[in-house]
Amino acid sequence: MNSFLLSLSIILFLVAAWFAWRYYDLKRRMDKYAQHIRSQADFPTDVNRIENLSNAIASLQTAFNFQLSTLNSENARLSTVLEQLTDGVIIVDANGLIQFANPAAQKLFEISNAPGHSVIEVVRNHQLVDAWRRCQQTNEMQSESVELPARHQFLQIIAIPDTHASGSLLLVQDLTRVRRLETVRRDFISNVSHELRTPLASLKALTETLQSGALADPDAGPRFLGRISTEVDALTQMAQELLDLSRIESGQVELILAPLAPKSLVTSAADRMRMQAERAGLKLTIKCEDGLPNIRADKSRLEQVLVNLIHNAVKFTKPGGEISVETEPANGGIRFAVRDSGVGIPAQSLSRIFERFYRVDKSRTGSGTGLGLSISKHIIEAHGGKIWAESNEGRGSVFYFVIPVP
Ligand code: ADP
Repeated sequence: MNSFLLSLSIILFLVAAWFAWRYYDLKRRMDKYAQHIRSQADFPTDVNRIENLSNAIASLQTAFNFQLSTLNSENARLSTVLEQLTDGVIIVDANGLIQFANPAAQKLFEISNAPGHSVIEVVRNHQLVDAWRRCQQTNEMQSESVELPARHQFLQIIAIPDTHASGSLLLVQDLTRVRRLETVRRDFISNVSHELRTPLASLKALTETLQSGALADPDAGPRFLGRISTEVDALTQMAQELLDLSRIESGQVELILAPLAPKSLVTSAADRMRMQAERAGLKLTIKCEDGLPNIRADKSRLEQVLVNLIHNAVKFTKPGGEISVETEPANGGIRFAVRDSGVGIPAQSLSRIFERFYRVDKSRTGSGTGLGLSISKHIIEAHGGKIWAESNEGRGSVFYFVIPVP
């Protein structure tokens, strides 16, 4: 029994010694290995370096993302500007192929897919194409303006060399409206001087006749003075109407809008012209339904239009004729009409009578300036309405205008 216990104790001791040796051996090897790694790889310094590198990469990425988003928003802003620009912008490469064309350029040249096409195909005008060619050859900015009668356009092209891409940038401006305004202004000045020349020449002739002895003539003297007074009145009226027209056209006349009953407007305009009509041997009547809705209008300005239309009717209707002023409901508004049984207006003149200074037959008009209808048109349009005329030559005319009901 004792020998059994002894053997067991020896075995247990050996096992415990073996475990203790394994543990110490393992720990010793691990320490040795850790020491080896530390001594060989300078471990803590590398970790710092890697950490620094990763921080640098992270901040680089942040900066890159920021720059990318700035670039994206600048790109978006640039493309919005190019899309909204009313001037055409075209980028052409060195071979004359269009790389980019903004919507305005595509609209001006009536093409929907300009990129990929050649400048010649898109521009279709040799003067404009020549400007681009000159720019390519000389590497200098070139400009050219042309009128395109078929397209009713007046275009200006500016070709700028693109030194980086050996191509060019074309800026296209539509000057049609500017040119039209220039023509209108030129015509206006020549019309005004022409209209002034006639009364001034007749004033000069009348005063010269008076100076050369007619003043003492009891018959011719007062007659010539009377004609001078008429000419001065005509000139004063023209000056007043020109002033009126320029104020209305430049938007300086502010409409004082208020609810207005159509019947009261018609009645007050007709009352103002009644005596003149009777003196001319004409019958002036009003045809106006009761209970029409109110319009929103500037009473004095609309009355000015009606008075002008009735005045014309009086001027162009022979004694014994009739004039009627009418109102009735129309599509979304009230339609006013001034109808006469006068000389009428030839069909080819109907569309022109609203132009400044236009008179059908200057010899039959007498004292007119040709500005009244033009002023009336501006006033009606400023009310959001529309004015037009219908006529049967020799049988009479009707002038209509519609004012919307709010
Ligand atoms: P004017 O001062 O010459 O009357 P308007 O602009 O009012 O100027 O009219 C332009 C021209 O339109 C007149 O000169 C005339 O030839 C023609 N016209 C206008 N109203 C009538 C009308 N009721 N009947 C015939 N012709 C008219």
